[in-house]
Amino acid sequence: MSHEDPLTLMRLIKGMYHNFELDPPNAKDYDQEGVELFNDLHSEFVKRGFEKLPKGMSGLDSGQPWFIYWLTEALEVLNQEGFELNAEQKSRCVEYLRKCHNSEQGGFAGAPYHQSHLASSYAAVLAIVNIGTQEAFNIIDVEAMRRYLKSIKNNYRYENQGQRSGWNLIDQNGDLLKPTKVSEVIASLPGSVEIHINGEIDMRGVYCAMVIADILNLKDEEFTRGVGDFVASCQTYEGGISCVPLGEAHGGYTFCGLAALVILNETHKLNLDRLIDWLAQRQLTEEGGFNGRINKLVDSCYNFWQGASFELFDIALKGNGNVNGELLFNQEALQAYTVICCQEKNGGLKDKPTKTPDYYHTCYAASGMSIAQHLSDYESLHSGIEGKDISATFNGNYNQLSSQSKEGEEFKSSEQQDSQKPATQDKKIYISGIEQSQLRRINPIFNTRYDFVAKAKAYYKQKSQ
Ligand SMILES: [Zn+2]
Repeated sequence: MSHEDPLTLMRLIKGMYHNFELDPPNAKDYDQEGVELFNDLHSEFVKRGFEKLPKGMSGLDSGQPWFIYWLTEALEVLNQEGFELNAEQKSRCVEYLRKCHNSEQGGFAGAPYHQSHLASSYAAVLAIVNIGTQEAFNIIDVEAMRRYLKSIKNNYRYENQGQRSGWNLIDQNGDLLKPTKVSEVIASLPGSVEIHINGEIDMRGVYCAMVIADILNLKDEEFTRGVGDFVASCQTYEGGISCVPLGEAHGGYTFCGLAALVILNETHKLNLDRLIDWLAQRQLTEEGGFNGRINKLVDSCYNFWQGASFELFDIALKGNGNVNGELLFNQEALQAYTVICCQEKNGGLKDKPTKTPDYYHTCYAASGMSIAQHLSDYESLHSGIEGKDISATFNGNYNQLSSQSKEGEEFKSSEQQDSQKPATQDKKIYISGIEQSQLRRINPIFNTRYDFVAKAKAYYKQKSQ
C-alpha cells in the first residue's frame, strides 16, 4: 500500500480502533481494556539510544545535540522509575556536548568542529537543562553565547528617509541596505533571527534564540526589539503562523512563534481568535491525532507542536482558554491515537502506524500526550502570583506534590496546599490503563520539566550578577 494515500491510511487506522471496539469520531469513551501506554517498553527503547544510536542516526552530523535532548526529554516525560540516567551516563553526554561547543563563535554546532548553529544551540542548552549538573551548566560560555545571538539577530529597521523610494531598510548604523534579490530582503527582515551566521531566517530561529536568551538571562531590549512584530507578520490569513511572512501556516512554526511571544509577553500582537480557529481544525475527526497543515496526514509529533500550542493559548488568555479545565481539543482522542496507532510493540513511538519508531517522535508524541493528560492549571504554573505559583518547584508530578505538602503541613496555610493541585484535579483526563503510568507534566514553553527550567534559570541569573 502507499503510505501517503490518505484514504488507505484512514481505513487502516479505523481498523486499529475497531480492534478495541472503538469507532471514532462516534466513540464516546476511549476507556477500553487494553488501551494503554507501554511506558516501560518506550523507556527501554530510549535508554538503548544512550548506548548506541541506530546506524542511520549516528552519521547525522547536523544535529547530534538533538539526540541528547530527545533522549533525556523522553525519559523525563515517560517518568518510569529505574530508567533515570546515572552519573556516568550524564558525564558522557556532557563530554560530547562539550565537543560540540564552539568557544570561538559562541553557541553549539551540530557536531564537533562544525560552525555554530542556532537549532543545535537550542538542543544543547535544553539537553544541559535536562542533565542539570554543575558540570553540564559550566559548558556554556554565556558571554560567547551573547555575542553569537547578537551576531545572528537582524536589527535592520524600516525608515522613510523622505526619498521618493518610500520606506527603506536601514542597518544599525543608519546605512541604507539595497537588496537586489527577494532572498536578501527576507534575510534582513527587522526582528528576525538567522539560523546561523549568513544563514536563512525562519520562525525556528526566533523561538530557539528566545528560549536560549531566556534561560541564560540574556534577554535585553536590544535583543528582543522587533521580534514580536516579526512573529505577528508571519501569522497567515488561515490563522496559524508561517516560517516567514506570506508563507503557509504550519504546526511547528505556530508553536515556535506563539511560544516566543509567551516568553516576550507579547501574545496580544497575534489575532488569537484566528489562531485558535486554525488550531482546532488540525485535529482529525477520524484519526484523533493532529496534522501539521491543512490537507496533510496525521502525525504524532504534532501531539506536541499543536497540543502545546493549545496550552500556550490558554496561557496567553491567562487561564481563560479552556472549558472547565479542558484544553480546546479532544484530549482523550489524542491519547487514543497515540496508544492505539503509534506504539511499536518492541518499544518506541512512531509518526503513524505505517512508519517505524524514532527518538524524535518518541519525544514529541509522549510530550504532547502528557499535555493531553493534564488539565489547565494556569494559576499554579504560569500566573506568577506569589503564594499561588508553584512552577519553580513543581517536578511534574501532582501526586508527589500533595504528599510533600502533607509532610510540611504545619508550615503551610490551607490556601497554599489547595494551590498545589489543579482546581479540577479529581476529573480524570487520562484514558484506561494509563492511571498506573501517568506521564510527567512538562512546561509547554520549553518542553522540559518546570523545576529543571527554574534551576537552570536561577543558576545563570546568579552567574550574571
Ligand atoms: Zn512527525
